Amino acid sequence: MVDRVLVALDGTVRDPDEPLLYADDIGALRGDGVFETVLVRDGKPCAIELHLARLRRSAEALDLPDPDLGQWRTAVETAAKEWGSEHEGMLRMILTRGRDGVESTTRAASRKPAERAPVPTAYVLVVPVAERVHKARTEGVSVITLSRGISVDLAPNAPWLLLGAKTLSYATNMAALRFAARMEADDVIYTSTEHRVLEGPRSTVVLQRDKQLITPPARHGVLPGITQRALFAEAERAGWDCRYESFFTADLITADSVWLLGSVTLAARVATLDGLRMSPPECASEITELVERGVARTWSLADWS
Ligand SMILES: *Cc1c(COP(=O)(O)O)cnc(C)c1O
Repeated sequence: MVDRVLVALDGTVRDPDEPLLYADDIGALRGDGVFETVLVRDGKPCAIELHLARLRRSAEALDLPDPDLGQWRTAVETAAKEWGSEHEGMLRMILTRGRDGVESTTRAASRKPAERAPVPTAYVLVVPVAERVHKARTEGVSVITLSRGISVDLAPNAPWLLLGAKTLSYATNMAALRFAARMEADDVIYTSTEHRVLEGPRSTVVLQRDKQLITPPARHGVLPGITQRALFAEAERAGWDCRYESFFTADLITADSVWLLGSVTLAARVATLDGLRMSPPECASEITELVERGVARTWSLADWS
């Protein structure tokens, strides 16, 4: 069984045990770049068109050159095929600003600063799905709420914070998860200074009450989630009322259930919140199935807007 697949953006399959990055890659120096994480299931990348569309949106937020989505699609398909259909895989699309001070020879002649930018580094990497993922799907997760220390008003007024983009600068998100682990929790829900619910370090928060699903709006500085989008599309067809609305930490406790949604884990029910046990609602398996169906569906680039 292959346990690692690496494909360069030009579609060439690389040896994952050989170095790929230069020491002066700005992705390594500054975490300056964007990424996508995609579930490979039955040898296929789930909801790939939505991931391509968000990659483009994130790149735009960082003033990176517009990604060639056709090339990315081919590289992703090659990687998924190499990975095979035997096991699920976690596929990452990585796009960094490129090498510090190294410009392409054709572009270096240009006088326009934007065109003198380095050539971005771009590749696709597939690795096995982490062990914790299976447990999160079946047993749910224990979660603590942590302050992100920012107001929901900040995002529209501070575009340099890149709050709606999936950037490679995840050191603080990883620190929050380590902090949670020290508190014997599996995951985190960030809150704003107004105690409004934001998102997880790698997931979207969805609250369920009767036949209603609610998630915080993107304008509050959360990343628009693909798994959440897929759930809402499926749930609306099945007669659920789906809303983008703000809610508070206190609303989590009184909800029928709370979910963390992400492309690889898909749906993890919050089983414990700040030490409080939350029992599964009757509709738990229905929600899981709606997510599964949603991500398996064929999406187009235009579905992401
Ligand atoms: C990736 C991510 C999400 C949502 O995940 P999807 O894979 O789009 O479902 C939400 N929040 C953060 C911070 C993320 O990094």
